[in-house]
Amino acid sequence: MSAAITLDPRDRGGPAQPLLSVDGLKKYFPVRGGLLNRQVATVQAVDDVSFSVRKGETLGIVGESGCGKSTTARLLMRLMDPDAGSIVFDGDPVGERAGITVNEMRRQMQMVFQDSYTSLNPRMTMAESIAYAPRMHGTPRKEAFDRADTLLAQVGLNPRQYARRYPHELSGGQRQRVNIARALALEPRLVILDEAVAALDKSVEAQVLNLLGDLKSRFNLTYLFISHDLNVVEYMSDRVMVMYLGRVVETGPVEQIYRRPRHPYTRALFASKPTLDPDRRTTEMPLTGDPPNPINPPSGCRFRTRCAFAKDVCAQSAPPLAAPLDGEVADGPPHLVACHLPEAQAAMGANTHA
Ligand code: SF4
Repeated sequence: MSAAITLDPRDRGGPAQPLLSVDGLKKYFPVRGGLLNRQVATVQAVDDVSFSVRKGETLGIVGESGCGKSTTARLLMRLMDPDAGSIVFDGDPVGERAGITVNEMRRQMQMVFQDSYTSLNPRMTMAESIAYAPRMHGTPRKEAFDRADTLLAQVGLNPRQYARRYPHELSGGQRQRVNIARALALEPRLVILDEAVAALDKSVEAQVLNLLGDLKSRFNLTYLFISHDLNVVEYMSDRVMVMYLGRVVETGPVEQIYRRPRHPYTRALFASKPTLDPDRRTTEMPLTGDPPNPINPPSGCRFRTRCAFAKDVCAQSAPPLAAPLDGEVADGPPHLVACHLPEAQAAMGANTHA
């Protein structure tokens, strides 16, 4: 889905200024054990992650379970504090004296989670759930409930039929529509969709994806779309960021990443994707084995224990995100890859996804 940038009255830095810029984000979780419950190890969940999201685009984040994509989303929402790194929202550093507060950032940045049932308060009706945040921000009761009705209609649920229902009276797809309406209640600019369609049946998933596309245009939204489903990410995203074991290994426009992935991990991930389309078959080896333990990740390139191209240099230093080593430069946003070796970036099967 292509990005349509229209000016938002709240836009401070113009359409060229990224809506979200993340620099050096890091989150390590302590592992405790023993009689004294001392810290015995550290899980490096997110390690030096940097990226930006342009106004009006959808950035898809993909990777295996445990790669750090959901932790990254929670750090952005400040559902947990980062150990290091900075988050800048439309030019304003978040949580710093010269920037915007975490509360203000949360008003402009909302999140939809995978589990539609636990995301809703079982004792609140749908209208109450949607009106809750605006009420907390001082919107008069009637105005908040009128807006809840409008939002229910905009996500395809008749307010007369659904406004007074409780979560257990709705299907999973209907509940996720309510969660989307609730996320829009404070008129956010950026919505993080964390596996938001993963629990839905395929037919319902398609409806919700189309709804998200419509709402994006209607409300001038920017999306961060997190999913393990490569087909869904391709359908939804303008750009893609691939994560492995807490780090970004490749990022770029969706056509380039899907047509000519450069990082051996990205190619192996795509090779693991089932397809009936003969034009999309690849001779690349699919991923084998589990990712290494994030408590003790490999030195240097974290993918080296599963990479068929690994050499000594791969254990010595972490490769930085940089332009592909064959020097090929395409128009538009940069295609960046974190890999030391040109031969690994141009390996067999690299262009068989077209
Ligand atoms: Fe493989 Fe080395 Fe490239 Fe890592 S840096 S992906 S181990 S070739």
